[in-house]
Parts: sequence; C-alpha cells; structure tokens
Amino acid sequence: MKKSAREKRLARFDKRHVWHPFTQMSEWEAGDPLIIEKGRGNYLIDINGRRYLDGVSSLWVNLHGHGNRKIDSAIKKQLGNIAHSTLLGLSNVPSIELAERLVRIAPRGLSRVFYSDNGSTAVEIALKMAFQYWEQAKKDFNRRKFIAFTGAYHGDTFGSMSVGEIDIFVKKYKPLLFGTLRAPYPYCYRCPVGKDKADCKTECLKAFEEILKKHSHEIAACVIEPVIQGAAGMIVSPPGFLKKVRSLTRKYGVLLIADEVAVGFGRTGRMFACETENVSPDFLCLAKGITGGYMPLAATLTTEKIYRAFLGRYDEYRSFFHGHTYTGNPLGCAAAIANLDIFESGRVLDRMKPKTILFGEILKKFEALAHVGDVRHKGLVAGIELVKDRKTKEPFASSERTGHRVAMEARERGLIIRPLGDVVVIMPPLSITEAEIKKMMKTVFDSVRKVTEE
Ligand SMILES: *Cc1c(COP(=O)(O)O)cnc(C)c1O
Repeated sequence: MKKSAREKRLARFDKRHVWHPFTQMSEWEAGDPLIIEKGRGNYLIDINGRRYLDGVSSLWVNLHGHGNRKIDSAIKKQLGNIAHSTLLGLSNVPSIELAERLVRIAPRGLSRVFYSDNGSTAVEIALKMAFQYWEQAKKDFNRRKFIAFTGAYHGDTFGSMSVGEIDIFVKKYKPLLFGTLRAPYPYCYRCPVGKDKADCKTECLKAFEEILKKHSHEIAACVIEPVIQGAAGMIVSPPGFLKKVRSLTRKYGVLLIADEVAVGFGRTGRMFACETENVSPDFLCLAKGITGGYMPLAATLTTEKIYRAFLGRYDEYRSFFHGHTYTGNPLGCAAAIANLDIFESGRVLDRMKPKTILFGEILKKFEALAHVGDVRHKGLVAGIELVKDRKTKEPFASSERTGHRVAMEARERGLIIRPLGDVVVIMPPLSITEAEIKKMMKTVFDSVRKVTEE
C-alpha cells in the first residue's frame, strides 16, 4: 500500500525520536513501524484504517476489548470531577471505592490495598514491605533474602529484576542486583531436575523445601507467578504445585508474594490464579488487567498482620516510606471499578468457559505440526514452543528469529501477536468471540506452518 504523507512523517519521527521498549532499535529503524490509531472491540486499527485482531491484548492488559462503553464512560465521568489528586495526605473517592471492591473479591485475608502504577512497582512494594515487616514486627534483621523461581519475571526495576531470572533481561545488571535464592520452577517440557513426565515425583518441590530448610531464617519472602510463568514462555505449573508452595512457605515461616500482574483478572478462568488452588498469599500484586487495559494502575494487597507491623508513633519511623506521584490516580481507579462492574454484570468468567474449551481443542491440533515442541494452555492464554527438532527438543538458533517471523507472518494476515523468543504467545481479550478464536487460530496455524515448514 502506498504510504500517505502523514504516515511517512510519523514513521520518520518515530524512528528518529521514540526509543521502543524491549526492542533492538537498529532492527526497528530498518523496518516500517505499524502505527495504531484506534481500537474497536477486539481489533486494533492502524492509521490507514487496516484492522488487526489484538491477539496479545495489547501486551496482556486488555480484557473487554477497545472502546468499551462502560470503561470509556467511567473515565469520562471521572474526568468531569477530577483527573488527579494525590493520596499523600489526602484521599479520593474512586481509590476508596476500588480498595473496598478489591478486598471483597481477593483471596481471604487480604484487606489492605497499596496503590502504584505498574506491575514492577507492585512487586517492588511487596518486596520492601516484606523486608520491613520482619525488622519491625519480629526484630528479625537477618531476613534479607528472597526466594524465587528459575525463569521468573517480576518486572524491570532493580528489586523486581533481582527476584527475576530471565538472563537476557537481567544479566547486564547483575552487579547491581541483590542476590536471590533460586528454586526450580516446574517447566515440565524441559524439566529443571531432569525428570520425565512419567517418573516425576515433583523433585523440584523437594529442591524448594531443601532451600527453605537451610535458609528460612534469612528469607523474608518467596515470590511466585501463580499457575503461569508469563515471560518465561507461558509455562503452566502442574496442579497442586502452587498449593504445595503455599504450605511449605507456611511450614517454614516465609511470607508468600503472589505476582498476579499477568494472570489476575480472569486470565486463567478464575478471577485470580491463586483461587485455582485455594491459596491465600501474604501479598497479591496486581496491575496489567486491573483497569481492563485502559489506564496505568497497580495495587499491592496485603494482610492485617503485615499492615500492623507498620503502625506506631510518627517518630518511631515505622511508616512505609514509599509512594509514587500518581499513586491511586482517580482516572485509573474509576476505570478499574468499571472493569469489576463488567466482570459482574457481563458474567465474564462464565462466558469464558466455552471459549476456553474451544481454544484448548484448536490448540491440540498444533501438536501435529513438525516444529511444535510443546503447547501450553490455561484459560485464555497459550504458549506454543517452537523447536528445530522435536525429538531432541533442540531450539532454533536465536539468530533465525523464528518466533518473530511467525508474528510478522501473522501480522500480514491481520493478527497482532508478540512472541517470547520462540514461544508463540496467544492471549486475546476475554471478550474475544468463538468465531474470532477460530479465525485467530487459523492465522496462527498457517503462520507457524509457513515459517517453520516452508
Ligand atoms: C508484566 C509483568 C510485570 C511488570 O509489570 P509492568 O507493568 O510492565 O512493570 C511483573 N510481573 C509479571 C508477572 C508481569 O507479567
């Protein structure tokens, strides 16, 4: 298609001035940016009016489609009152109402809500609170470490990078990060303790318990992405794993931080992934889907027990000295309340069930493809791991950019997806229809086949 003068101008300025996240900019500068101008329902629309199905929910955030009337009008209505006022020394109406709503639906025991504006800070806050809790509540100054899992991703700030492990994201900064104890995560396709599915006795949990046994006296908290490790490649943990992690952290007196930034708000089929195994963490970190994908907002929920450790006279300095300028932003909170309203009035979780079944059935067909090593699925998330050799599980050379090429192929066919290495990620808005699921999956299937077999 011939480019308009406007598109040319925007593309030029984009390449000249905008530094894109997680992007090799030399590759970017050599290409043509796809510039999105609008969103309608489950579709993104570029500046030429071309429509694309939003196959990764605008990076895992959008739940009810774009231009949703209820969320749009909640934001507009709030804008008629006030766009922003601080939570430092003042309160505001939507932040109060949202906190009450979140506590009502959160796993049992979580009754205190601390706001911020992105997933990394939601985790950062939980880490700081956990550390400070031990000092103030227990006079325990040895609890300086965290335990987290192999392949974990918890964000890009220094604290959240320290508990994360994905090498390409954190390796460069290693000298600046605090050390974290690392337990094997059940990435069963490539078992970290070398077992087959047949002889799996969840050795990985034994390794986790060994670390706790040895180090629990110096561990402030365990951080986990419940049920699905996201950035590692949508790795679904086997049933019972999360519950066992909770019971072991209880047994050894270690706090549990559940990072539900990616999986919270219906993604797995339950409101929160922790519900799948009836787990109540000591901290629940929420962001991405909290506003339905409309505004930057995050929340860290915790218990009365943790909260009480921060009470005292002012000059005891037990306060939680942390806060971001836009903490509890009223527009974000209003969008989040509308998001929860839609879950209730639209019976979103009930209506997801047949879609999840259909999604799972279509995904099974991918197992027949020559270069599909593993297909992982839960709720409306899937990760399809592409490999060079199915027998040996040998990956493609990273220079081949296989996952990226599949995404570009899908884009040509009107679908936006973004892979994690050679894992093709599919994570559409929960509002996707069955017809759109079929269309989307046909596009993914054809794109995978084209790139890996031709
Ligand atoms: C995206 C993500 C984060 C970081 O959230 P940002 O809003 O990008 O800072 C943290 N944890 C998990 C599990 C995530 O998926």
